[in-house]
Amino acid sequence: MKTDTRRPRRIKETVFKGIAVSPGVAIGAIFDTTEPPAEAPRRDIKPEQVEAERERLNAAAATARKQVTKLKTRLSVLPEEAQEELAPLLDAYILMLGNSRLLRGARKRIGDLLLAPETAVLDEAEEIAATILALKDDDKAGLLRRAAEVREIGRRLIRTLTATPFRSLKDLPPGAILIAEEITPADAALLDPSRIAAVATEEGGADGHTAIMLRALGIPAVLGVHGLTEAATRGDQAVLDGATGQVVLHPGEGALAAARESLAAYARERTKLSKLRRLPAETTDGEVVELQANMEIPAELPLIAQAGAQGIGLLRSEFLFMNRETLPDEHAQFDAYRSVVEAMGGDPVTIRVLDWGGEKDMEALAEGSPPPAGPNPALGLRGIRLLLKRPELLEEQFAAILRVAARGPVRVMLPMVTIPAEVAQARDIYERVARRLRRRGENIAEKLPPLGAMIETPGAALAADAIALEADFFAIGTNDLAMYTLAVDRAETDLAHLYDPLHPAVLRLVQFATEAALRMRMPVSVCGEMGGNPKLVPLLLGLGIRSLSMNASSIPRVKQAIRALDIDDCARFARRVMEQSDPARIHELVSAFGTDKA
Ligand code: PEP
Ligand code: MG
Repeated sequence: MKTDTRRPRRIKETVFKGIAVSPGVAIGAIFDTTEPPAEAPRRDIKPEQVEAERERLNAAAATARKQVTKLKTRLSVLPEEAQEELAPLLDAYILMLGNSRLLRGARKRIGDLLLAPETAVLDEAEEIAATILALKDDDKAGLLRRAAEVREIGRRLIRTLTATPFRSLKDLPPGAILIAEEITPADAALLDPSRIAAVATEEGGADGHTAIMLRALGIPAVLGVHGLTEAATRGDQAVLDGATGQVVLHPGEGALAAARESLAAYARERTKLSKLRRLPAETTDGEVVELQANMEIPAELPLIAQAGAQGIGLLRSEFLFMNRETLPDEHAQFDAYRSVVEAMGGDPVTIRVLDWGGEKDMEALAEGSPPPAGPNPALGLRGIRLLLKRPELLEEQFAAILRVAARGPVRVMLPMVTIPAEVAQARDIYERVARRLRRRGENIAEKLPPLGAMIETPGAALAADAIALEADFFAIGTNDLAMYTLAVDRAETDLAHLYDPLHPAVLRLVQFATEAALRMRMPVSVCGEMGGNPKLVPLLLGLGIRSLSMNASSIPRVKQAIRALDIDDCARFARRVMEQSDPARIHELVSAFGTDKA
């Protein structure tokens, strides 16, 4: 992020394009979280720490260099003028993050003065900047710019070193558009939707958990916006459209007027959709569809109630415990689930046991003996695999859920299942915990709440008939299913064009798993992001799905779509789609459904 002194401010309207992840329009001032943490505390170290701290600095420099190099490869998406301005600047950054005076000086300070790298970098950058500013040169603006660049690199390094780029939102003015290189799902969970108008980041994909969190909170958001953090300065005015994926920096009158019009249109639509709240999700020929909400954090409960959800189809329990350093014990979990079950007032709550691992924060697991992340976390110890390896975690969670079941209807769901034996083993533990609780005098019903499996890996989908023999219900997680089927990370910006739940391979797996469940007369729902897209509802209904779980704010639009559908049309449409082998053709058919072109 540059400061005002770095170079003359460009106030020309610039349009950036990213991945549209959460609809809504915002007009506001940029608030840049890539600013340094204001209070990186000064810290001394011991002589025996020198080597390790120098290593930490080297690693931070390598990370920062990688980030800037990546930024540079992406410049081609920007207008030529912006490219001309930014390319030399990024080259200078890359040089300074190599074997530069800044890094050499900081390394020396770590050893000679026994300073922590954050402190050493800050002091060295300040000293270099002061030296530059003291030079005799007529080009005062040039000197100011060079000094600002050194400070900027220092800040970048400190940010990487402290690894807390995001938690300091205390200066955030209300109504700001938050921008960052990247925000983690745990950071997103800390955002207050009543204060933040919108979010834009350089990194991130359409169905990563950061995107899911932002949608859940109803915060308009665009991820994967290349070049924005370099071009924008705190306080700049911007317009963000989370439905089109457009961010306009320094919007002109035309862009502002269009944004104001969109804001008014959203407000009108909200009023119209709110009238659907009490109406059933029923097709024109009387087929009823269950619409439930996905939930991550308690802040969503009012939105869920407002949307008229018929219960919670996926409680991502790991999010409830994400921003804490210790594992939640049975009592903490009981309290958390109880408040959700009670808030739902008799509607069912499907609690998914902890899906830690992969891109999800594992801070709390780091206490005691942290599980190894492995070379490839997405393919490693995560979800049910982790819980079966650490059965004490599963036992505590089952105990909390089973006790909560006395307060209202719950279901229990296992994440990342790949083989039937995982469900069978989990069920053994489940029943053992129930017996233990009964011995303890707890009120545990004879018939335990249903224990279901997420179908979110190709292996599970293709073995759905075998898993159906062990599970009481299925919830199809199309987010991971698409990721693992297509070998594309759901949070990866550069491959977002290949991450496509409408790829025929993904659809065939959804179809196979759905049919396996229906043959067994077993409940099956879709709880991945596909389920919340009104355009995809005809296809899912046509494949036999009658239960969808989604972020609460999507429920009214999905309900509106269902109320205009005829189930036979949906079935015919699904047959047509499933004959296709080209994803592009499937997209065409989906967009054209219900229009004359269909
Ligand atoms: C999924 O993978 O589709 C899913 C619903 O689970 P999560 O998004 O939490 O991984
Ligand atoms: Mg998943």
